[in-house]
Amino acid sequence: MSLEDHVEELASDLDVDKEEVRRDLENLVEYSVPMDEAKQSLRRKYGGGDSGGSGGTPSSKAIGEVTTDDSNVTVTAVVLTSGRRSIQYNGEQHVIREGQLADESGTISYTAWDGFEGDLEPGETVQFGNAGVREWDGHPELNLGQSTQAEPVEATLDIDAEVGGESALADIEPGDRGITVEVRVLECEEKVIDGRDGETTILSGVLGDESGRLPFTDWEPHDAIEEGASVRIEETFVREFRGAPSVNVSEFSTVTPLSEPVSVTEDAPRMRVREAVESGGQFDVELVGNVIEIRDGSGLIERCPDCGRVVQNGQCRTHGAVDGEDDLRTKAILDDGTATVTVILDDELTERVYGGDLDDAREHARDAMDKEVVADRIAERVVGHEYVVRGSLSVDEYGANLNATEFEEADDDPAARASDFLQGVDA
Ligand SMILES: [Zn+2]
Repeated sequence: MSLEDHVEELASDLDVDKEEVRRDLENLVEYSVPMDEAKQSLRRKYGGGDSGGSGGTPSSKAIGEVTTDDSNVTVTAVVLTSGRRSIQYNGEQHVIREGQLADESGTISYTAWDGFEGDLEPGETVQFGNAGVREWDGHPELNLGQSTQAEPVEATLDIDAEVGGESALADIEPGDRGITVEVRVLECEEKVIDGRDGETTILSGVLGDESGRLPFTDWEPHDAIEEGASVRIEETFVREFRGAPSVNVSEFSTVTPLSEPVSVTEDAPRMRVREAVESGGQFDVELVGNVIEIRDGSGLIERCPDCGRVVQNGQCRTHGAVDGEDDLRTKAILDDGTATVTVILDDELTERVYGGDLDDAREHARDAMDKEVVADRIAERVVGHEYVVRGSLSVDEYGANLNATEFEEADDDPAARASDFLQGVDA
């Protein structure tokens, strides 16, 4: 059914002006309120009772068998996680609950909207009658609303999932809700942003544990979150930031200082290039490959003094004609046989692969009367060599780019590898 069909149906059911219904419905849908829920909300608003349209109680289903073709189902499941989040629609603040449910056949995400009456206590087994099914990112999710009946059940389900949402950073994925982490705050800074109600202060930085590191944002600054602190954070939700997961701390999160410091891994997970690119992004990853080419825009470059973007022929894309400031940068294409990424080296790493600083580069370019000599020397030194690279990988319309924090030539020389290989053959 199109939006217009829903408008027609509601306007005739409720005997209300079509324009009014369309405006309300568009408003709700714009805020990502699912159609079923939006329609029920309007039925409440215009006092039309809740004739959900489906009639009768939908049949019971195993979670693993729920598909996006289902409109309403009844499931009996264990609540794995439950996290609150405040969202705004129809000009009002609403608190929704989100998390995951599990039964013996699998797990499914849910959103509980205004009007849902029932406990969502992690560990409880509950029968959810008449839960709506919506599609999100190709997968079915459950909508628990006013017309969903929740009945606690005495049964013990043999589920293959952990209750409570305690997670290692490496296992967290965008879309996770109601997650608990025990972490060390590695970096933390205050930022002032334009929020819903004017300027607000938030915290952002980096968290670490034994499994890895992830960026975080605390939308309602908690005192216990400060650089160096080890904390337990309950009820977080996870969003995607530049292709990688980012931990979100909210007004509903509980932050408790830990007496024992959380140990943080020194290493980033090592991945094949294809695997890393296909994951959509990695906040901190290690790749190994050969540099096959140095791209344009490497070596001695000029940046806009206002925005820092690279200036070409004295023109900034945003600020027009500017007096560019000299800088050093390298864009190297790394290939490990599975795929390629562009590795971006900042001024310090570029100084090392170039073998000189900014002044040396300026002098070098002046003597040759050509800026390109700087990039040429970098290419001579790195192309054809194997490197271990660590940094933050983003994958977007600009391609797969890794901002490097470390760039080291692989020390195992080919002769040693050949001999390892021969030994392998002998054995
Ligand atoms: Zn600019």
